[in-house]
Amino acid sequence: MSVRVRFAPSPTGALHIGGIRTALYNFLFAKKMGGTFILRIEDTDRGRHVSGAEAYITDSLEWLGLTPNESSTNPGAFGPYRQSERLDIYRTYADRLISSGRAYYAFDKPEQLDVLRKEAEGKGGAFLYGALNRDSLDNSLNITEDELHSRLETGETYTIRLKVMPDDIISFEDIVRGEVSFNSNDLDDKILIKADGFPTYHMANVIDDYSMQITHVIRGEEWLSSTAHHLLLYHALGLENSIPRFAHLPLILKPSGNGKLSKRDGQKFGFPVFPISWYEDGKESFEGFREAGFLPQALLNFLVLLGWHPEGDQEILTIDNMIAQFSLERIGKSGARFDYDKAKWFNHQYIVHSPTDALLPEVSAELSKHGIQLTQKQVVDLIELMKERCTVIGDFHQQCGYLFAPIQDFDEIMLNKKWTDHSEAMMTTVIELIDSILPFEASEIEAQIKSHMEMNAISPGNLFPLLRIALTGTTKGPDLFKTIAFLGKEESSSRINHLITIKTIANE
Ligand code: GLU
Repeated sequence: MSVRVRFAPSPTGALHIGGIRTALYNFLFAKKMGGTFILRIEDTDRGRHVSGAEAYITDSLEWLGLTPNESSTNPGAFGPYRQSERLDIYRTYADRLISSGRAYYAFDKPEQLDVLRKEAEGKGGAFLYGALNRDSLDNSLNITEDELHSRLETGETYTIRLKVMPDDIISFEDIVRGEVSFNSNDLDDKILIKADGFPTYHMANVIDDYSMQITHVIRGEEWLSSTAHHLLLYHALGLENSIPRFAHLPLILKPSGNGKLSKRDGQKFGFPVFPISWYEDGKESFEGFREAGFLPQALLNFLVLLGWHPEGDQEILTIDNMIAQFSLERIGKSGARFDYDKAKWFNHQYIVHSPTDALLPEVSAELSKHGIQLTQKQVVDLIELMKERCTVIGDFHQQCGYLFAPIQDFDEIMLNKKWTDHSEAMMTTVIELIDSILPFEASEIEAQIKSHMEMNAISPGNLFPLLRIALTGTTKGPDLFKTIAFLGKEESSSRINHLITIKTIANE
């Protein structure tokens, strides 16, 4: 049977990177197995539905290249792929459970249940709607057929609950966690259809996994305990032969390692926890990795290692490497600590090793954002000049201020240390030399300056620091000759001239 997996987010807000990691693992597993990766939107909780959240999910997956084989925008044979469009399907299965006695109508009002809940809590316990008390509650198990019909006919609000049998041990073999068991005495008669007619997560999730022929459920650890009810549902529906395999992924932990990473941690520590920015009321309320200047490949590489490791100690993994090496068996049980410095390290690696062309659109967009208009050739040169020094795309502007505007501040201490009585003459000859270099390219500039130094017995220690200070303001920076080429003949000469003027005035 061919592998079919699904990523099943609920559109209740921006999708946290934990969700993206789940999508990535599903995607990799599908690709590895030659299977199908499905995007299913679980939008049955109408109260928590947030407009724009579904588009956010789609946009995030698209940015990362995690394209589903089946989804509502690219339907296959198992649609619809949005649960709110599948209500009839859930209803049919709910009716089937009622007819077979595995589910029942419950008429209890929320206020009545609240009272019972408080009462139980008062005694230090928890209220469980189930085998021990269902006989004394307001449901179809305790009324006649006629009464049931008349209550349904009068339009009384009801829910449909799963009838959980007591003293049942439910076990399954989780691919990540090994054998997991639950005792049905700890489980309540879960609501399957809510008072608003919509199914609960449990009902819709199981019916869809079954009807979309899902073979492997790969999802976050927070859903592990729900699996007990899911298994009971498969059994109640007589679908025990169609139970998928489960793999529950470890948590992504806070940088401290204490507890689950939350969206508030991002705000608290100043790093993104969402793939792309999330806007509320037209304003950015959470910055995404994309907007923080990350490359999609780098983010995926960072995420894939939060909970999974390849066999060797290779850290840089292209998507094809990931697919080739991915296996569910290598997913770890313990939580993976979120380390933003590591994310930045990956991004730096990807910036340094990406072909310049691949960085062009992002870098051009970043520069235009700051009102800097360069030709395509200049952007290419800038990328080649600066990429070793850039961690995020924003650095192509931020770290490069001196390339775009005249130098305001010079490293005075260094300047005074290096400037001698001969410096003015030396710098003047360099201006003359620069004027004569053709073609004005880094390799030619380097060759000419070096031969000029040799002929005039100028040592690197005398010239280079001063040249750098003139051109960039400091003695640190990227390759000197590439910098001169980038700035161009005129700008380079004018900067050197400016330094000479400053020093001459200072010495008068
Ligand atoms: N709708 C659930 C979520 O938001 C899906 C959990 C599952 O994959 O079963 O994560």
